[in-house]
Amino acid sequence: MPGKNISKAAPLSPDEVTLRDELRADVQKLAGDIGERNMWHYPQLNAAADFIENSFSRAGLRPRRDTYEIRGQACHNIDAEISGANPEIILIGAHYDSVFGSPGANDNGSGVAAMLALARRFAGKAAQHTLRFVAFVNEEPPYFLSDEMGSLIYAGRCKARGDKIPVMISLETIGYFSDAPNSQKYPSPGLGIFYPKVGNFIGFVANVRSRTLLRRVIAAFRKYAKIPSEGAALPSFIPGVSWSDQRSFWRYGYPGIMVTDTAPFRYPYYHSADDTPDKLDYDRFTLVVTGMEKVIADLDKL
Ligand SMILES: [Zn+2]
Repeated sequence: MPGKNISKAAPLSPDEVTLRDELRADVQKLAGDIGERNMWHYPQLNAAADFIENSFSRAGLRPRRDTYEIRGQACHNIDAEISGANPEIILIGAHYDSVFGSPGANDNGSGVAAMLALARRFAGKAAQHTLRFVAFVNEEPPYFLSDEMGSLIYAGRCKARGDKIPVMISLETIGYFSDAPNSQKYPSPGLGIFYPKVGNFIGFVANVRSRTLLRRVIAAFRKYAKIPSEGAALPSFIPGVSWSDQRSFWRYGYPGIMVTDTAPFRYPYYHSADDTPDKLDYDRFTLVVTGMEKVIADLDKL
């Protein structure tokens, strides 16, 4: 019901209006102009990779392609780094493929647009840590949980190189909000006792081992952000907890969290042909990204 999804968010500042325009344009590019992008729509997958690479370049960064092959076809994770004096890496990632049959505006055009906007905002600024922005390929089934998942290949290479990554943040489906009663569902009925029934918040999810990172991120987010947030460190077997690229980093012992609007537990167009750019709430999506900008700046000071 996109017509009913009228934002109750605080009015945006001029900077936030600029950010909202960037987010809207990049979601439109990925999900509207390019559209469905995956191994069955391979030219579109590569068009998305080119777009991300060009976006990094236009921000003054030097993108790198980290490539592997699936049945003779090249697949690219794409990253760009801002080096700090401290070689420990704060990694912000989002998958850029879309599930079969979906243009993937919210899942995960929203995450990629946010990742690119954050890269633009930190480019040219001095950071203490090394900030690394990554677009992952092949997150969706049948690659999800397989050895060919883009982020799993990428995290394995990080481990092999000895990269120190104390912070991994996965931006996964972050653009849909609703003020309707019972617009928020939960994977297990038990969780519904503790959590709001209205899908007007952004969620932060971690496995139990990443709970310290989760607490830091939520504390920083709540200091600045103008949108409600909820967080939980949960065993990774609970449905939804491991459903994105943070799981790949957990596999290699790195702490990681997922930022999400909870996707299937809220978004009526999840993994469907109707996951189109018009469904997103760009005002509240913007407030999530400005909050994450502050979170990254805060984490960098630690
Ligand atoms: Zn996704």
